[in-house]
Amino acid sequence: MANINYEAYEPVIGIEIHIQLLTKSKAYSNDVNVYGSLPNTNVSVISLGHPGTLPKPNKKVLEHAITLGLACKSEITPYTIYARKNYFYADLPKGYQITQDKTPICTGGFITIKDANHEDKIINITRIHMEEDAGKSIHDQDPYETLVDLNWAGVPLLEIVSEPELKTSQEAYNYVTEVRKLVRHLEICDGNMEEGSLRCDVNVSVMKKGQKEFNNRIEVKNMNSIRNVQRAIDYEIKRQIEVYENGGTITQETRGFDAVEGVTLPQRRKESANDYRYFPDPDLQPVFVSKEDIAKIKATLPKLPQELYHEYVHTYKLSDYDAKVISEDKDIAKYFDTLISHTKHYKVAANWLMGNIKSYLNELVLSINDFPIAPEKIAEIIAAVDLGKISNTVASQTIFPSLIDNPAQNVLELAAKLNVLQDSNEDALAGFIDEVLLAFPEKVEEYKSGKKGLMGLFVGEVMKKSQGKADPKLTSQLLIKALE
Ligand code: ADP
Ligand code: MG
Repeated sequence: MANINYEAYEPVIGIEIHIQLLTKSKAYSNDVNVYGSLPNTNVSVISLGHPGTLPKPNKKVLEHAITLGLACKSEITPYTIYARKNYFYADLPKGYQITQDKTPICTGGFITIKDANHEDKIINITRIHMEEDAGKSIHDQDPYETLVDLNWAGVPLLEIVSEPELKTSQEAYNYVTEVRKLVRHLEICDGNMEEGSLRCDVNVSVMKKGQKEFNNRIEVKNMNSIRNVQRAIDYEIKRQIEVYENGGTITQETRGFDAVEGVTLPQRRKESANDYRYFPDPDLQPVFVSKEDIAKIKATLPKLPQELYHEYVHTYKLSDYDAKVISEDKDIAKYFDTLISHTKHYKVAANWLMGNIKSYLNELVLSINDFPIAPEKIAEIIAAVDLGKISNTVASQTIFPSLIDNPAQNVLELAAKLNVLQDSNEDALAGFIDEVLLAFPEKVEEYKSGKKGLMGLFVGEVMKKSQGKADPKLTSQLLIKALE
């Protein structure tokens, strides 16, 4: 296998993501939808599909689906029906899942990702549909038996299916990251992959560069982190190229990812694409989505991370990095937006957030929602520094910690109480300056003969004499005057 030319091939990747929705109850019953309950405690006869029971759609599921569709600029289907997907499995008590087939609630739309050159790349979406989860088979808790937890049966999911437009495992990584960021931002899913609230199936094939028609794809399941999505794809790309180069063929199949070994292993062959015998669910009415329904949901849509990023870079002139970090976390962005509604010093505001505030949060492993100081207070600090009332150092090393302990304090009153108000009294300063220049006659000579770097020393000495209260800007202005 030494002479395999991997570069002659081009990967083709499409991703299906199951998004577990944050709703109080399940998709078609009022069983609670919560992670971590004791097994088989959130299960009613409806989830079990007992004869005579009827499912009733949870309105929130439809709203969340439309929310995601609008965020992706998808078409919302005005007339949509539920379908049954039939198969037999121990964790599927009804013998079918309620899903959607021919009329997914959303079609089209796109997710924007960064490609290898950090350029925006659009990944088109095929469709987004609503479905319910099956139960969960647990194979690793009992040495002999497979255990089944039906709490999961009927939990609402959205499935978002991408076109096969991803070209590298890194693009796939970026795509899943974007989708996770988006659903968290929209507050429709917690995006927790370890708990299974976001599940990816990746479809991978490879073809000779320039080839028009795709080759057969492999679908890989069971990846519990985005990093593993990337690893599984890298493994598949290499494996498939080697199969072709050794004269073999790839038949469509489903494989699982073994995270320990870093390999994919066959699970089942797909003989025919469609053995689920989909048909419209006779227990559920079709759904009509009016323009008014859509407008109502649109009105509640928060600004999307990419819109925020754009605004931060272009309107507020933040650095690319700051804009990215702040826009990526909905709560951080919210804090920042409130902060800059109270100050025009946008970059300084970003510095506070990215510096003092984030370090504090990281140190105590807190989220911004637990941060004690209100954004208005941070704006007050920024104003006090801007007016020359306190120095930057005092602001971050004295005022900030004191506000953390007692967030209600008025910044200027606090500064006065702690005796850290900056001295901009020129007479007092002039006195200190004279003393300093007298104390360092040689340095003064050196300065005069061109060693301008000594200014730092003079300013420092004046600061010491003023016990840190001198305004450094004013001090150096006065020093320059005195030295000329
Ligand atoms: P299924 O339910 O059979 O998995 P879906 O339509 O739900 O089919 O998903 C198909 C996924 O596979 C999509 O994400 C699509 O982009 C991707 N895909 C289709 N053909 C290929 C191919 N030849 N190589 C890689 N991915 C593909
Ligand atoms: Mg699939």
